[in-house]
Amino acid sequence: MMTHDLKSPLTVIMGYVQALLLEMPEKVDPSLHLFVREMDKSSGKMLTMIDDVLDAYRLEAGLLQIDRQPCNARQLLEGCCNDGVREAQVHGSTFLSELSPEAPVLSLDGKQIGRVFANLIGNAVKFTPRRGTIWVSSALRDGFFTVEVSDTGIGIPSEELPRIFNKYFRASAARGFKGTGLGLTISKAIVEAHGGNIMVESQEGQGSRFTVLLPLPGAKNA
Ligand code: ADP
Repeated sequence: MMTHDLKSPLTVIMGYVQALLLEMPEKVDPSLHLFVREMDKSSGKMLTMIDDVLDAYRLEAGLLQIDRQPCNARQLLEGCCNDGVREAQVHGSTFLSELSPEAPVLSLDGKQIGRVFANLIGNAVKFTPRRGTIWVSSALRDGFFTVEVSDTGIGIPSEELPRIFNKYFRASAARGFKGTGLGLTISKAIVEAHGGNIMVESQEGQGSRFTVLLPLPGAKNA
C-alpha cells in the first residue's frame, strides 16, 4: 500500500518536470535545462524502482498480468538497443548490436518483454566499467527468437550464479552499484510466462552473457 501510495506524488512531480522541459524558454541558462533533464531522468528511475517493488509483490500474489498481442520482437529489441547506445555513451562504453534480418511477429506482452530487454541491456551497461563493450544480438534458432546480451563488465562470482534470479539477490561484486535486486527476478517470471527461458553465463572480472529464448509461433509453448 505504502509503495503504491508513493506513486501518486511522484507522478505529479514527473508531470510538472515534463511541463517544465516543454515550456522552458531557450534563452534560460543551459545549466537549468540540464538540471531539469536530470530531475526527469532520476524521477523516471524512481518510478521504475517503485514498479519493480510492486511487481515483486504481484508476482508473489500471482497477480502479475501478461497481456499478449501480436508484436514485432525485432523492432522491440531495436528500440531498447537505441536507448542502450545512449546509456553506453554516457558510461564511456561501446555498444554493438547485430540483429537478425527476420522480424518475427510473436504473441507477446510488448511492454513486459520490452522491460526484460531494457533490464538486461541496462544491467550490461551499468555493470561494465568505462571503455567496456556491450554486445546485443538476435537470431531465429531452433524454434526460438533468441536474444543475447553480453558485456565485458565485472562479471558474477561462479558460486553466486545459481542465486542470481532470486528476489533481492545482488552479487558481492555489485557492491557500490545502485539497484534493487528485483529486475532479474521479474524478467525471469515474464519470460517464463511467455513459455520462454532466460539463462546466464559469467566469469568474475571478465563479463557476462544473458540469453533469452522466446518460442516462435507454432513452436511448443508459444
Ligand atoms: P539490480 O541490477 O537492481 O541489482 P537485478 O535483479 O537486475 O538487480 O540483478 C541482480 C544482480 O545480478 C545484480 O545486483 C548483479 O549482482 C547481477 N548482475 C545482473 N546483471 C549483471 C551483469 N550484466 N554483470 C554483472 N552482474 C550482473
